[in-house]
Amino acid sequence: MSRVYNFSAGPAALPLEVLEIIRNDIPDWQGTGMSVMEVSHRGKHFVELAARAEANARQLLGIPSDYSVLFPQGGATLQMAMAPLNLTRPDDTADYVVTGSWGKKAAGEAKKFCNARVVADASDSNFTHIPDESSWDRSAKAAYLHYTPNETIAGVEFHFIPGGDVPLVADMSSTILSRPIDVSRFGVIYAGAQKNIGPAGITLVIVRNELLDKVRPNNAHLMTWKAYAESDSMTNTPPTFAWYVADLVFQYLKDRGGLEAVGEVNRRKASKLYAAIDASAFYSNPVSKDCRSWMNVPFILADASLDAKFLEESSAAGLTNLKGHRSVGGMRASIYNAVTEEAVDALIDFMADFEKHNG
Ligand SMILES: *Cc1c(COP(=O)(O)O)cnc(C)c1O
Repeated sequence: MSRVYNFSAGPAALPLEVLEIIRNDIPDWQGTGMSVMEVSHRGKHFVELAARAEANARQLLGIPSDYSVLFPQGGATLQMAMAPLNLTRPDDTADYVVTGSWGKKAAGEAKKFCNARVVADASDSNFTHIPDESSWDRSAKAAYLHYTPNETIAGVEFHFIPGGDVPLVADMSSTILSRPIDVSRFGVIYAGAQKNIGPAGITLVIVRNELLDKVRPNNAHLMTWKAYAESDSMTNTPPTFAWYVADLVFQYLKDRGGLEAVGEVNRRKASKLYAAIDASAFYSNPVSKDCRSWMNVPFILADASLDAKFLEESSAAGLTNLKGHRSVGGMRASIYNAVTEEAVDALIDFMADFEKHNG
């Protein structure tokens, strides 16, 4: 078997330990004589899985009891529409902080459904900083404030939680489970699975229960958080395989000591990679030091004509998916939970070696 070090931004690496359980489980899951993909989502085994996944998510993230935990389909992108549809009427105002491409997309989607106002916008710096919170032009009466705690493309992460007394709605797709968070500070948290949770096809949504009743009348059933909350996310046939993998990932993170322990490893991984980049004149990262991402680390080569060679040689060395997003250029190393410290060390060694031969 030969596994590469996969630095993909998403769908991203999964823990090898989880993949091995899946391989073993496939033909006969829990003595059912079937794979998990072939059993009824209403049957005893799957209903138990769903309950366990929720309990483990609650325990890992410390989700208070007055929050619902939902597992819809549609990814984070569908939640960009579901947030305004579940929290506003067409004349209501919702505030959006735009610190990257995903936040911009969320604001654009919300504008179709309510008065979505961009109250801070970091596009003037090509998304390399977070505008000072005191400069945000917040509405007097907003239904919520939406922001993106980690912007996956530019690698910009909030290391604080915004204040104010309206519900916070956070797209945590690329930072969820990377360290402990204080869920009680949020109204809604949503995250597509394919970065830190599991395979694409399932979404984690955490909603404070009192917000469930703000949904628009006649909202589409499958776009209504309350419908998921009332049916244990069995609103229609759920993405059973993705849910099963998410359950295994939650269990795996618990076995590793929970999010404190996971966060400590992630902090170390990110800080040694940034240290290597900052120590070199050959590589650089354009993001302000106070908002650098722990999960997505973009870096550019001083000589962009070496990009193709870097990608070719890194890939040949078993370090894959390092090409940066076209809006940023250069490279991006996504170092989610399943990317080991050993993988980051291998990348740092490769970078030093490449610099030595080409610098
Ligand atoms: C990947 C990502 C998305 C898109 O997720 P989908 O599940 O593909 O809809 C949205 N927001 C952020 C922050 C992401 O990282």
